[in-house]
Amino acid sequence: MITLALSKGRIFDETLPLLAAAGIQVLEDPETSRKLILPTSHADVRVVLVRASDVPTYVEYGGADLGVTGKDTLIEHGGQGLYQPLDLKIAQCRMSVAVPAHFDYASAVRQGSRLRVATKYTAIAREFFAGKGVHVDLIKLYGSMELAPLTGLADAIVDLVSTGKTLQANQLVEVEHIMDISSRLVVNQAALKLKQASIRPIIDAFAQAIAKTADPTP
Ligand code: ATP
Ligand code: MG
Repeated sequence: MITLALSKGRIFDETLPLLAAAGIQVLEDPETSRKLILPTSHADVRVVLVRASDVPTYVEYGGADLGVTGKDTLIEHGGQGLYQPLDLKIAQCRMSVAVPAHFDYASAVRQGSRLRVATKYTAIAREFFAGKGVHVDLIKLYGSMELAPLTGLADAIVDLVSTGKTLQANQLVEVEHIMDISSRLVVNQAALKLKQASIRPIIDAFAQAIAKTADPTP
């Protein structure tokens, strides 16, 4: 049995075409089913639905053989014990620093001010500001980062941005682009050795499907 860990929402939705390229159809819709284990058209392949931030943990400890997870989540997890064969180029967005429109970020940085930064991504934020030589107090949040500067909880946030509409709606502006983010395939290292024959074809089919999307000429 091969177990693939996915999170509901964009990662699940954007992984479906890759699975289809590997000849695998998921037989239930996670938006309507209450099941956490979904069967597929392959009797020996199943999908488990876990929280996005739990995908690397499931794969690390072998609760799943494979998983799809954002680069953001992977960096925060640390990636230990995970083989990362492919950038799937799905769920693309960027990690950014944003501040209230009235906050003069550039001069705060120039003056060496200590910044209060709210984020779910503390490892990424810590490394980024350390690299810039900016002193920060990191405030760990689990959601709605945009609210932090509006309530005086923080001067800035580090968060994922795709269209920028959420920032705009909350009068926040992007002042730093930390890195581009997309989702990766992660594989349990022991499973890769023990279940080569079933896992390799999935990795290869995903790789081919990505190459086709990148260069659609036949
Ligand atoms: P959790 O439920 O564990 O708290 P989450 O709610 O942040 O996680 P999602 O919002 O489903 O999880 O995001 C899952 C992944 O999708 C993120 O880790 C990121 O890589 C990617 N992602 C998040 N927001 C966007 C976005 N606006 N556009 C594209 N990809 C995104
Ligand atoms: Mg979520």
